[in-house]
Amino acid sequence: MAHELRIQDGWYKVESSSLLHKKFQVPFEEDMFNEFKGHRNLAVEELPPWTQESTKEKASRRAVSRALNAMLNTGKGGKVYLGIVDSGMVRGLQLTTYQQDHVMGSLDDLMSRYKPPVKKHRYRIKFVPVVDPKCSEEEIIKQCSYDASDNLDETDMTERMKPHIFRSHRYCWCDKDGVAQFNCGVMTQDYVIEIDILPWNSKDPRNQDSGCGSLINLHPLHEDEEGSVYFRRQASLVKYSMSEICELTRQEARESLEEEVNRLKREIIAKEEL
Ligand SMILES: [Zn+2]
Repeated sequence: MAHELRIQDGWYKVESSSLLHKKFQVPFEEDMFNEFKGHRNLAVEELPPWTQESTKEKASRRAVSRALNAMLNTGKGGKVYLGIVDSGMVRGLQLTTYQQDHVMGSLDDLMSRYKPPVKKHRYRIKFVPVVDPKCSEEEIIKQCSYDASDNLDETDMTERMKPHIFRSHRYCWCDKDGVAQFNCGVMTQDYVIEIDILPWNSKDPRNQDSGCGSLINLHPLHEDEEGSVYFRRQASLVKYSMSEICELTRQEARESLEEEVNRLKREIIAKEEL
């Protein structure tokens, strides 16, 4: 997969060079549409066992899934950045090509487990290279235009077809391979993983059979892999009960109908004036 350098792209442009730098402070905070995560545990089963212990500090790691679920359920979309810590500082995550495949597969697996399942056109994933600011521009360009998949030989490609282990906190074969590479002195590129949840588009033909209501195509509400339904409120998440969900749906239906009623009213007035 080719990586975009984002040379023209606003907030990644740092000083004279144009890439996402390690320890760079991104110029925005977590809000309704942006969430930072320092790890890549997508589904709840991927969380290491120590996160389940009840000490305050340790319980702070939550699966990425909740944030994705909340962004889907508001219908407004948003972006989750993996490899940027809460304070907005870029750390990056070391990923081999195989581990990138793993993350993509794990995301598809997770989205297929939501109820109803989330169609693939509603989300995107992107790996943005993170570089050391001490590198020269030349080194940076070389590092980031390096496409590992081009350098895989036949044995590597056979390796690549091996199924990854999802829904587990245990090391997958790709993680073991990453450690082995590291021990052999192979430098692995750091990335920030951007997962983009696209806003609901009621007019998109691909959304025709997954929305609710025939007159207004409202965005569906998805249960996550644990059967919970989250919503995003500013930079935080709220878990809703069934009655709250009903009320919210009613309100959204009222609001979107109101728009349609106003449009029709304006149309009538315009016709009367003719
Ligand atoms: Zn794997």
